[in-house]
Amino acid sequence: MERPLSPDDVLSPRPSAGVMLKRGLRKRCPRCGGNGLYESWFRMRPRCPRCGYKFEREDGFFVGAWFVNFTVTEALVFVLVMVFVFVKNADAEASVIPIAVVGVVLSVVAPVLFYPYSRTIWAAIDLAMTPLELAEIIDAEDSLHAPEATTEPPRPDEPPAAADPAG
Ligand SMILES: [Zn+2]
Repeated sequence: MERPLSPDDVLSPRPSAGVMLKRGLRKRCPRCGGNGLYESWFRMRPRCPRCGYKFEREDGFFVGAWFVNFTVTEALVFVLVMVFVFVKNADAEASVIPIAVVGVVLSVVAPVLFYPYSRTIWAAIDLAMTPLELAEIIDAEDSLHAPEATTEPPRPDEPPAAADPAG
């Protein structure tokens, strides 16, 4: 399948969408496969500690992760309802209460357990759909070498750094 080249293809080989998704499913960085993306179950680092890839590429990025989580939970509840349909078909007297209890517990527990995976899966989907821009690749690389907490905003009185004397 043809796809347009991105700067990532030049600087480092870009993994296929399948590889990125597999990494996401294993709670790893979709870009490099690096581990340790979470400080705790609910606390994701802003960047991959191995390649510097910034997960939140734009505001509201993780709404997509919420959507992944929601879809998975709804799919599980759907399977449960189908199980109940089969049970009820085999035994018309079967009570709805046990399956309802399982459904409620599932709706609460599944999103919690799936939470970190939903984020890395969404990051993989996003990266597969939108390859990193050159500026993002440079930013990722820079973040690996810059000491933390020194991200000062650019000073307005300084001339633009990209000024070319020959131009
Ligand atoms: Zn990475």
